[in-house]
Amino acid sequence: MGNQVIIIGGGIIGLSSAFYLQEAGYEVTVVDKTDMSNGCSYGNAGYICPSHFVPLAAPGIVAQGFKWMLNSKSPFYVQPRLNKELISWGLQFMKSANARHVQRSAIPLRDIALLSKNLYEEWTSVPGIDFAYEPKGMLEFFKDEASAHHAEHSVKASRDLGLDARLIGREEVQKMEPDAKLDILGAVYFACDSQLYPNKLMSSLQTYLAGKGVKFLHNTEVTGFVTNGERISGIKTPQETLTAAEVVLATGVWSGQLAKQLSLNIPMVGGRGYSVTLENSPYKLHHSIILSEARVAISPMDGNKLRFGGTMEITGIDAPPRMKRVQGILESVKKYLPEYDIAMPAEKDVWYGYRPCSADGLPHLGKTSRWKNLTVATGHSMLGISLGAATGKLVQEIVQGKPTSMDIRPFEVERF
Ligand SMILES: Cc1cc2nc3c(=O)[nH]c(=O)nc-3n(C[C@H](O)[C@H](O)[C@H](O)COP(=O)(O)OP(=O)(O)OC[C@H]3O[C@@H](n4cnc5c(N)ncnc54)[C@H](O)[C@@H]3O)c2cc1C
Repeated sequence: MGNQVIIIGGGIIGLSSAFYLQEAGYEVTVVDKTDMSNGCSYGNAGYICPSHFVPLAAPGIVAQGFKWMLNSKSPFYVQPRLNKELISWGLQFMKSANARHVQRSAIPLRDIALLSKNLYEEWTSVPGIDFAYEPKGMLEFFKDEASAHHAEHSVKASRDLGLDARLIGREEVQKMEPDAKLDILGAVYFACDSQLYPNKLMSSLQTYLAGKGVKFLHNTEVTGFVTNGERISGIKTPQETLTAAEVVLATGVWSGQLAKQLSLNIPMVGGRGYSVTLENSPYKLHHSIILSEARVAISPMDGNKLRFGGTMEITGIDAPPRMKRVQGILESVKKYLPEYDIAMPAEKDVWYGYRPCSADGLPHLGKTSRWKNLTVATGHSMLGISLGAATGKLVQEIVQGKPTSMDIRPFEVERF
């Protein structure tokens, strides 16, 4: 049992951890309650974005959230509920949403994203791993003067952090996107960002890892733990109790509930987002795009696919999808790209997933004071793909007790 590791959760964080732990010589088992084919790590926008160094908990977001609550098509929504976890998360979130937190988070978020980007670049030459990686940068379109002003700040802040970003006018954007008619004022070009196709990444990682001997227990829900002193000695599932020397908790939005069983407080809510993918798009874009005012992401990926994604809906995990929000996404696209007539899809053709939103927008990563053989890796909010490869590498270093590739103290698991 000395080198056995059980990873609970087979999203990008669990699979990336499996990649590096297997490489380091561990005997790895990934346990997931689903068949691992369509969770949050699949239908997302696939941005690898060092440019996103501002955490979700930032000044202005709370006031904006209240304003948007009355609009059924708005990009941000909190469903009011008398739920103890939501209220406690909300209070922590409001406390964190300040300028000091944004300033303190910028360098750690930049560093983990850059580490991740470098590691994804290494993965492009691993035989058997294919994820349509494209280091072409990202364009953030804006339409109004207020956003143009905000864009100037954002370019300055990015450059101060050493990131390649510049403000460009409409004509230059048009040259970069010659196949689209644009109704915009300008854009920020974040040359530092990349794009991948998450569905391909996830399926190719599973095949690769299985080929390397990583064991997968699909449709197996972890329901509790057996503990012995300072160690987790058993992982309970309906079928059996599993044992391993080391345990990694990477259960995305469900991490708060599981952590509670280990007397750990990891405040977490689901930030639901939707996406619609044209598998063979009649429209062509050459870069990943963010529509700044509308908070919509457009991802050209894997040849001719085009994915439209957005909304941050803090809601219960069992709530039915709200199709008005999908309509809101598609209507916003037309405001920036007037030739884009995308028909409203049937509910079955709309993908949605729950971002694991921590209460300050930063991941929870590391060991805990309570359990010697537990590593927690969760709470990546809107950045799980971007920070995925680095998180896996850091998990491997933490499990091995080695110095980590970067300072992980800002991601301290028990900070709340
Ligand atoms: C619309 C949208 C767009 C996005 N775009 C981007 C983007 O461009 N770039 C980016 O970086 N991020 C993006 N994200 C966020 C990103 O998708 C998430 O941060 C990421 O997928 C989280 O990965 P994870 O491995 O932590 O969680 P998940 O992918 O949710 O994986 C957790 C796994 O744990 C399993 N599990 C849970 N509980 C148990 C249990 N008790 N027993 C066994 N298994 C369990 C679940 O079944 C699941 O498979 C986007 C998200 C959305 C919704």
